[in-house]
Amino acid sequence: MRKPIIAGNWKMYKTGSEAKTLAAGIVEKVQKVQEVQIVLCPPFTALGAVAEAIKGSNIELGAQNCHFEDKGAFTGEISTAFLIDAGCKYVIIGHSERRQYFAEDDALINKKIKRAQASGLIPIFCIGETLLERQKEQTFDVLRRQVLHGLQEISATDPERLIIAYEPVWAIGTGVTATKEQAQEAHRYIRDLLAGLWGSETAERIRIQYGGSVKPDNVAELMAQDDIDGALVGGASLDADSFAKIVGF
Ligand code: PEP
Repeated sequence: MRKPIIAGNWKMYKTGSEAKTLAAGIVEKVQKVQEVQIVLCPPFTALGAVAEAIKGSNIELGAQNCHFEDKGAFTGEISTAFLIDAGCKYVIIGHSERRQYFAEDDALINKKIKRAQASGLIPIFCIGETLLERQKEQTFDVLRRQVLHGLQEISATDPERLIIAYEPVWAIGTGVTATKEQAQEAHRYIRDLLAGLWGSETAERIRIQYGGSVKPDNVAELMAQDDIDGALVGGASLDADSFAKIVGF
């Protein structure tokens, strides 16, 4: 049985004090939720404030990126050790905005996933096709490439220590959500790829989130799909009320 996991990706929004207020609002609204794991991923500079605000609650902390080395002369970068020290349990890796705007490729993402796992963080590994790729019927080829390269040389994994987020790029921040059939089809395909890597018993235990314009009014039908085990939420996680409604789907 896979426990649903819903994470808020706050992207480059919220100062420390704004983040504290938002986190406190979410803490209050989701305090009774037990059957869903809840994760907040604020910007690096707000991790401390959010860690403080969620202390003792049913919410966990995640970051939006990390470096692939454990330490060194990498000005401006953030190591997994820093994230753990700040209270993080999760780190988003390979978000499409990082692939698109910061030239992150499958090989770099693979290094980051390995570093995250080696240091004890749980990667939320993002994959998904662009609109053009879907129109050209390349969705499955893209997902296969991203999964196989992103997880290269990870010979076996504890299913609890990897989260996949299927995020069709055309659905992120656009208000256009994948239909439940499109999402389920992609999630099943991803799970089959994982089964090819590590066997079906492991694959059946790995959680696969859907991301892309998840809102209070579409979350329930997505979550009802067999292979959808949670959501990675951008815009709608920036408001305590809407994020709480999503968590309470
Ligand atoms: C995201 O940033 O991962 C995302 C899914 O954004 P949104 O919910 O705004 O589409």
